[in-house]
Amino acid sequence: MGEFDLIRRYFLRPPGTGVEVGVGDDCAVLVPTPGARWLVSSDMLVEGRHFLSTVDPARLGHKALAVNLSDLAACGATPRGFTLALALPRVDETWLAAFARGLLKLADASACPLVGGDTTQGPLNLCITVFGEAPPGLALLRSGARAGDEIWVSGRLGDARLALEVFRGTVALDGAGFETVRTAMECPTPRLALGQALRGITTAAIDVSDGLLGDLGHILAASNVGARLDVDALPRSAVLAAQPVALQHECLLAGGDDYELVFTAPPGARLPDVGVPLTRIGTIVAEPGLRVVDEHGAAVQHGLQSFDHFKS
Ligand code: ADP
Ligand code: MG
Repeated sequence: MGEFDLIRRYFLRPPGTGVEVGVGDDCAVLVPTPGARWLVSSDMLVEGRHFLSTVDPARLGHKALAVNLSDLAACGATPRGFTLALALPRVDETWLAAFARGLLKLADASACPLVGGDTTQGPLNLCITVFGEAPPGLALLRSGARAGDEIWVSGRLGDARLALEVFRGTVALDGAGFETVRTAMECPTPRLALGQALRGITTAAIDVSDGLLGDLGHILAASNVGARLDVDALPRSAVLAAQPVALQHECLLAGGDDYELVFTAPPGARLPDVGVPLTRIGTIVAEPGLRVVDEHGAAVQHGLQSFDHFKS
């Protein structure tokens, strides 16, 4: 099968609302909402770096788009479309069909149509660029946290990292426990509805992709404040809660791949209920630095850092 047959078979979709021209011409032509701001983000997934070669292709398709939608969610954006740049070692139709199914199912569920891309031969590599919109002045940024704000997180943290440790062979779980954490790792849910519902409520927001310490650290740096983080308050699954405390802390604080939203809001802010649990995990303080404490307020030694591709 040639490049154009492949694109037509797996990635051509009828243009939907707001898409004047989708896949098939030199550019996609999108119709902006008058007055809205564009929000644009790219995320690349590289085999061996971001996913294992054995991963189910439908889950890989889901995750490639989910991690991008998570960035739109973190900014409170409404998705409008995405492009897919794909390098494939060979044309494997079974793989492509499953990949496209996982990808396009999440695209449809998120009202985020595939509007174009690029396809080439090479080591397996996926790069998605998402386009979203938000009303002027209402994008959620990292820079507005103030001393006294409360720190909140959606969902729960740490399961994806626990799954990675199982794949690495450092942790053993029973079948049901492994399924729980593996699904968290391979099928994250972007918190789009929550992000949009938080417009005008939060002072700062980010999604947890590299680990809570580092990602909350980005809010602190951008906002020029510090924080007190209660490690005992961090929401975790029963599977993670059954692990030794040091491993729990590692997964919760430095795990990454969570794709939950961390945000700050003034005390008493009316937080939206979109069916995703929200947990208060700490407080913004004026003094710079991130202090991790237990439920009694005592300092917790952890020696952990978030994930960084260029550090060992
Ligand atoms: P060009 O040569 O103008 O760069 P291409 O030949 O690369 O265009 O692609 C032809 C059409 O198919 C374009 O509309 C492009 O956006 C679309 N396309 C290519 N690869 C993909 C893909 N993986 N997913 C979606 N659309 C794609
Ligand atoms: Mg062209």
